[in-house]
Amino acid sequence: MLHIKDLYAKVGDKDEDILKGLSIDIKPGEVHAIMGPNGSGKSTLGNVLSGRPGYEATGGTITFKGQNLLELDTEERAREGLFLAFQYPVEIPGVSNMEFLKVSLDAKRKHAGLPELSSVEFMKLARETSKRVDLDASFLKRGVNEGFSGGEKKRNEIMQMMLLEPSLCILDETDSGLDIDALQVVADGVNSMRDSERSFIVVTHYQRLLDYIVPDYVHVLAGGRIVKSGDKSLALELEAKGYGWLENEVA
Ligand code: ADP
Ligand code: MG
Ligand code: MG
Repeated sequence: MLHIKDLYAKVGDKDEDILKGLSIDIKPGEVHAIMGPNGSGKSTLGNVLSGRPGYEATGGTITFKGQNLLELDTEERAREGLFLAFQYPVEIPGVSNMEFLKVSLDAKRKHAGLPELSSVEFMKLARETSKRVDLDASFLKRGVNEGFSGGEKKRNEIMQMMLLEPSLCILDETDSGLDIDALQVVADGVNSMRDSERSFIVVTHYQRLLDYIVPDYVHVLAGGRIVKSGDKSLALELEAKGYGWLENEVA
């Protein structure tokens, strides 16, 4: 699904690389959690993968479903099935959530050789999906994320993900700022989408989310690269010991 080898990346006009030799391999159906200290490059990795402007790979390779990901633009990456739920979801005032979802879904279906859904079919699907993430259908009519609370934005991102059925889902701290009920909704959403084909990268600060979304692998990103990998027990170890004990490996 995703093969990242020795990735270096920088942001904006900064000279220094933020990612410095990051490698990771993700097979279809796997859930990988990425943890790590603040400022270690977790969001940068998500942004580089999704092709966000300003984030530039300066070395290494990324192969996504057999293609050179770095040669695809942001829209192409999305059409190929890559989805990033942002740590800070963007507001798009003036564009309704529904319009945004319909355009995104139409593009995806067209690319897959499927016909556009009619308005009626789409509305039915959108209403069902909003129910699954416990968002009132009235949110479909509002501007994308406009005035949504933190929790509503995160649930809205999960709703987008459910509708678009990506093959690689990247969740960047989708749990931060969520109360227990919303966390459960997010986790249930992810778990309902897990299957042998779809992969997930779950970036989180807290072990708590991983009680609900049980990962196949846990990685620690520090100083711009993966310094330790293990199974779900690594998350418990990090919760107990913090990140300080990994300093030697970072150096
Ligand atoms: P994390 O998500 O692990 O907390 P980030 O990837 O957000 O870390 O940030 C890694 C480093 O890159 C930080 O030092 C941050 O200030 C810097 N950085 C990230 N995005 C930008 C940006 N758009 N402009 C300038 N610096 C950035
Ligand atoms: Mg951070
Ligand atoms: Mg971050």
